[in-house]
Amino acid sequence: MLYTGSCHCGRIRFEVEGQVDGGMACNCSICSRKGSLLWFVPREKLKLLTPEDAASTYTFNQHVIQHRFCPVCGIHPYGEGAGPGGAQMAAINLRTLEDFDLESVPVHHFDGKSK
Ligand SMILES: [Zn+2]
Repeated sequence: MLYTGSCHCGRIRFEVEGQVDGGMACNCSICSRKGSLLWFVPREKLKLLTPEDAASTYTFNQHVIQHRFCPVCGIHPYGEGAGPGGAQMAAINLRTLEDFDLESVPVHHFDGKSK
């Protein structure tokens, strides 16, 4: 399945391929503030349709995850970084996908706060 997604103003647009099997709601300091629902895919499954530098980047703590967000509208469509095995992963914010029924997938709650 090929999904398209974007920030609110359209400065960041992307395609992502895969089967959404669920969304992760994390209670860590940044996820709880963003309210994002994350879906993890290998980084190569995420194809940016807009220039990579259209997005601003935020990092914190150990700076292993690049949190990408739009400097114009403030929406955060995805993040990227190395996964546990060292492979590059992308965390897609399911809420930024177009025509995606959020209620069609289960939500997994992850206790990132205690990690
Ligand atoms: Zn935007």
